[in-house]
Amino acid sequence: MRVVDNAPLAPLTTLRLGGRATRLVSAERERDVVDSVREIDARGEPLLVLGGGSNLVVADAGFDGTVVRMGTRGRTNATDGDRVLVSAQAGEPWDAFVAAVVEEGLAGVECLAGIPGLVGAVPMQNVGAYGQDVSETIVSLRAYDRHLGEIVELRREACAFAYRSSAFRGKDRHVILEVTFALERSAVSRPIRYAELARALGVVEGTRAPLAAVRSTVVELRRKKGMVLDPSDPDTTSAGSFFTNPIVSAAELASLRARVEGEGPMPVFPEPDGRFKVSAGWLIERAGFVKGFAGAGGRVAVSSKHALALTHRGGGTTGELVALARQIRDGVEARFGVTLENEPVFVGARL
Ligand SMILES: Cc1cc2nc3c(=O)[nH]c(=O)nc-3n(C[C@H](O)[C@H](O)[C@H](O)COP(=O)(O)OP(=O)(O)OC[C@H]3O[C@@H](n4cnc5c(N)ncnc54)[C@H](O)[C@@H]3O)c2cc1C
Repeated sequence: MRVVDNAPLAPLTTLRLGGRATRLVSAERERDVVDSVREIDARGEPLLVLGGGSNLVVADAGFDGTVVRMGTRGRTNATDGDRVLVSAQAGEPWDAFVAAVVEEGLAGVECLAGIPGLVGAVPMQNVGAYGQDVSETIVSLRAYDRHLGEIVELRREACAFAYRSSAFRGKDRHVILEVTFALERSAVSRPIRYAELARALGVVEGTRAPLAAVRSTVVELRRKKGMVLDPSDPDTTSAGSFFTNPIVSAAELASLRARVEGEGPMPVFPEPDGRFKVSAGWLIERAGFVKGFAGAGGRVAVSSKHALALTHRGGGTTGELVALARQIRDGVEARFGVTLENEPVFVGARL
């Protein structure tokens, strides 16, 4: 376990933005994570649990409290009939986890390749992409419950998974220690449910494709959108999608359709609950924030490859990034009457 006082947080985030933390604890053993959190809570200090920093917007003023950085590693497989239960420690890098299980011939997370961050964070916002999300395969997780002061096991039903949301997001109650996924032993993927991916694979939507091909095709599609971390690609200095796709009722959709008339076909995806998911990226571009649109000063900008990602071009501040995000949110609201919400977690800052 390493403890650093007055630690800069910007290098620990994919946006490379944010001030310092009063204290940074890097913990490689579960016991150290739990003991540190217990002590922090006993002292009544603010706590920030840090994974890969890929979904965080940290204020320029930093974090006046202790950051516990998850560094616990390890993974076990247990056979359960046709399925394999794969349990991974919170500090395992997610993309390497996906690559490893695909290599082992286990299906269920192949469409989630190329997403940065650590395993312990994936339940937080029910990480998803290309027609898959982790709620489909997570069966349980172990967590330190800060209210009870003990380690608990939570089954999927207790996690309240929804689109980019869960029982954990915004609550700060559980420190996730280990996540268990039920994966299918299979040489082919789960049915492909994303039109763009099906096209790239040359298969019909709803059918399966070779597991390794799905993983590599997803990574390739993501790379073209600047959605795979790459130090040589400034478009990847981001927190991924900055806004969630708005979900609207049938009535709201009808009024939105009236407002977007003449703008070309609007991508709309029906939700299981009868509502509709609208593409935030499409609305952002139609509101005038085209790819490459820069904020005041030019150090933060809409990605040149993906209208939904805000990027830091270097030398900027969180204040500048948030100002650009507000400009986009307000512009979309004025034009279409839809209020966009941030996907990344804000620490000490507000949209
Ligand atoms: C280029 C890029 C592409 C992306 N693409 C996608 C995508 O396709 N789909 C998607 O869903 N997301 C995407 N993201 C967002 C992000 O990668 C995911 O949300 C990821 O799961 C965050 O993991 P992390 O370890 O970096 O979490 P962090 O950013 O470190 O933390 C995020 C939040 O989770 C909390 N947290 C982290 N670990 C734990 C833990 N063990 N216990 C309790 N709380 C914890 C933190 O306190 C914080 O509130 C992308 C990000 C980038 C930069």
